[in-house]
Amino acid sequence: MQILLVEDDLSLANGLELALTQEGMTVNHVTKGNEAIHVVESFPPDIVILDLGLPDMDGLEVIVALRKEKNTVPILVLTARGAIEDKVTGLDCGADDYLAKPFDMTELLARIRVLERRISTSTTSNTINIARVSLETKERWVSYDDQEVSLSKTEFMLLKTLMQNAGRVQTRDSLESQLYSWGEEVNSNALEVHIHHLRKKLSSDFIKTIRGVGYTVNKP
Ligand code: CA
Repeated sequence: MQILLVEDDLSLANGLELALTQEGMTVNHVTKGNEAIHVVESFPPDIVILDLGLPDMDGLEVIVALRKEKNTVPILVLTARGAIEDKVTGLDCGADDYLAKPFDMTELLARIRVLERRISTSTTSNTINIARVSLETKERWVSYDDQEVSLSKTEFMLLKTLMQNAGRVQTRDSLESQLYSWGEEVNSNALEVHIHHLRKKLSSDFIKTIRGVGYTVNKP
C-alpha cells in the first residue's frame, strides 16, 4: 500500500516512515502542502496522512483543494490541535479520519487498517484502456492485445502514471522522483531502461518520447 505522508516535523516523519515501512507499506514523504497536492494528482497514493500545520499552507486547504478536484483519496489528519472544533472542521472539509498528536503508533496503524478495509470494499476495479493496452489499477495487471503482460513493479508504476495522465507530458524529473520513492537505486539512465523494457513488452510506439522534456501516451 502506498502512503503519502505530509509532515514538516522531520523527526516525527522519520519515525512514522520507519514504522509504516516495517508494516510493509511504501511511504512517500513531503513536507509542504503544495508538494502534497502535486504528488496526489500526479501519482495517486492509497492513503494520505496529513499534518495540518504545514510551512506553506494549512493542511485543511490541502484537503479542500483535493476534494474540489473530486479527488477521493482517503485522508487521515494528524494534528496537535486537539480541540473538537478543529476535528469537526477537518471532517467537514473532507478528511476521513482524525488523530490528535501525540498519538500511539498502534492507534495510527489501527486507523490505517480501517481506511484500507474501506478502500478495498469501496473501490471497484478500474481499468484504463488506451489503444491496445489495458491496465487494471487495483489488481495490477496489464494486457496488450488481450494477452497478459508481465511487468516489474517499477514498470507497472511508470505505465500507470503515463496512462492515468494520457495526453499530458510527464517530465523526466517527476517520473524519476517516483523511482526513488519505490526504493530503486537510480542511476542516470534508469528511467530510459524501464521505458525501453515497456516498449519491448508493449508496442514500440505506445510511449512517446518528448525530446528534452519527458514521456507521454496519447489519449484514447
Ligand atoms: Ca507541522
